[in-house]
Amino acid sequence: MRAIQIERPGALCSVELPEPTPGPNQLLVRVHACGVCRTDLHLLDGEVEIPRPPIVPGHQIVGTVIGRGDRAEASETEPLEPGTRVGIPWLGWTCGRCRYCLSGRENLCDLARFTGRDIDGGFAELTLGDERYCFALPEGYSDLEVAPLLCAGLIGYRALGMTGEAERLGLYGFGSSAHIIAQVARFQGRRVFAFTRPGDEAGQTSARELDAEWAGDSLTAPPEELDAAIIFASAGELVPTALRALVKGGIVVCAGIHMSDIPSFPYDILWGERTVRSVANLTRQDAREFLDLAPRVPVRTDVHPYSLEDAGRALEDLRAGRFQGAAVIEIDR
Ligand SMILES: [Zn+2]
Ligand SMILES: [Zn+2]
Repeated sequence: MRAIQIERPGALCSVELPEPTPGPNQLLVRVHACGVCRTDLHLLDGEVEIPRPPIVPGHQIVGTVIGRGDRAEASETEPLEPGTRVGIPWLGWTCGRCRYCLSGRENLCDLARFTGRDIDGGFAELTLGDERYCFALPEGYSDLEVAPLLCAGLIGYRALGMTGEAERLGLYGFGSSAHIIAQVARFQGRRVFAFTRPGDEAGQTSARELDAEWAGDSLTAPPEELDAAIIFASAGELVPTALRALVKGGIVVCAGIHMSDIPSFPYDILWGERTVRSVANLTRQDAREFLDLAPRVPVRTDVHPYSLEDAGRALEDLRAGRFQGAAVIEIDR
């Protein structure tokens, strides 16, 4: 099968690999589409370590089940039979036994394996997914449209949940995640304030089209205080910027897996019971909730297709901010 691999930091290669064989609990999936995430860029750049390279990246996988290994009797979920369209997200496997797994926080499992980092992902014609971590996908979305829901949507949704009942929500970095979460936030009756890179007029226009009531660049203070902010960009200097925009008791949620160093800041911008926290990975419960919610909003995604061979260009276009919305690798059959 054709696939794209990260061989070492900076080296993205087009390769031919043997067709994978499903082991116990695994599904063999023919990939139709795979969303491109900023995490893929961090993996390529070596900012997020790949424990055992080479690896096939891609963790927003949409495909059809075409085969399966033996199913463990203990599995509590409904089987995903051949012919089912499934999504495979970042959380690929957890131990089920550690203090995190046993307390509803499998996203923090020390032994967790992640799709496209520890397990070969979806920049390939075929892939394997542990059935217990795969999800049937909502109808009414094409393969391309549904792909960005699987990380940009899911992890954005987890970050949004951490803002509680915040009414005035700031979104810093208006890319793939923010364009989805802005729609969910509006659906929930929140007010959205969008912050883009300075001078990114197209991003600000796109935010207003998604019903943000204000859009400006990240160096500008919003017209009123925010109850919460989610930072999707990987720029650490946005943490004090967002803190300065918050009302007392407000929260800044850092939604990315990697962020540049956060500059020191005066205690008085944290004072007043303001909070800074990160969001890490996702739980299967997040996935079930969000995949149920998305079609009811309904969330619409703005997608930019690239062929498998153009995965490198998709990543560089993401780095340079050359598109609005989300890039998706489309695997032709
Ligand atoms: Zn665990
Ligand atoms: Zn991701």
